[in-house]
Amino acid sequence: MIGYLSLGGNVGDARANLRKALQALDETPGVEVLRVSRCYLTEPVGELNQPVFRNLAAEIKTGLAPLELLNAVKRIEQAMGRAPGPRWGPRLIDIDIILMDDTVFETPELTVPHARFRERAFVLAPLAELAADAVDPVTGLTVLALAARPEVIGRVEIDDEIDS
Ligand code: ADP
Ligand code: MG
Repeated sequence: MIGYLSLGGNVGDARANLRKALQALDETPGVEVLRVSRCYLTEPVGELNQPVFRNLAAEIKTGLAPLELLNAVKRIEQAMGRAPGPRWGPRLIDIDIILMDDTVFETPELTVPHARFRERAFVLAPLAELAADAVDPVTGLTVLALAARPEVIGRVEIDDEIDS
């Protein structure tokens, strides 16, 4: 199954953290990172009083079931986000599952396609680089069509290639 993930962060060296998360994903049994979008600088949505975010999208090939994939991304988030000492530090990385082929999955822990991705420019802009023609199984719209809708919020600009 082909899936699309959205990765973001705004604490510490965000580009380094994104690279680290991509490597951890690719090292996860049953997950292969196929392609990665450019990195975007994106304005915070909701809580505005915080640093800009960096976001990118990744295309993966996976044999994992949706909840197995969620557990894998949560493990990576926790491994990277845990500050030294007993307390949980600020989260350095957010990994969201956006699409998994035409899977529609709805449980308390996981909604696929991601419940809020249709309104978020910071998800749609990088995703459109990799999968403009991918169809959202809920609305029947392509990623490109979703990205053009007026309800999309948040300004984004290209930062750079993540590997440069
Ligand atoms: P957010 O991504 O909304 O800023 P979190 O990363 O803390 O917040 O996610 C909160 C919870 O959202 C996760 O623990 C997870 O169980 C749930 N969740 C539901 N759908 C998804 C999805 N498609 N991808 C990732 N997490 C999801
Ligand atoms: Mg998340």
